[in-house]
Amino acid sequence: MAAEKNRCLECDAPCCRNLVMPITRPKNRYELDLLKWYLHYDTVQIFISNHRWHLLIEGKCIYLSKSNNCTQYALRPEVCREHSSDSCETTGKWYDKIFSTPEQLEKFMKQKKTKRRK
Ligand code: SF4
Ligand code: SF4
Repeated sequence: MAAEKNRCLECDAPCCRNLVMPITRPKNRYELDLLKWYLHYDTVQIFISNHRWHLLIEGKCIYLSKSNNCTQYALRPEVCREHSSDSCETTGKWYDKIFSTPEQLEKFMKQKKTKRRK
């Protein structure tokens, strides 16, 4: 527990500098096209972790102080309470795949399709 506390204290809180939202894997051309459009924006990435898809949007939480502390710690949302430093952005690989451009996502989906056909 102490280690977890120390890790957060020494961290510049990347977990409070990105908005991460769950999304579903694209099931058809329209859905893939939509996700590719999200990636037109240079503040957006899509990542897969443990078979779950997520949209990541860069942007600092308004409640993060200049010294990287949560200024509404006691009232922070449930999702912030559940975020564990055991599996966060600072501890090794927090994603299995990450896409920053539409081309990367398209290529990944094509490879998946080819694999399924084999
Ligand atoms: S949960 Fe992880 S990313 Fe967030 S402040 Fe703690 S160590 Fe840093
Ligand atoms: S509410 Fe606090 S813990 Fe949650 S993202 Fe904002 S600064 Fe971080």
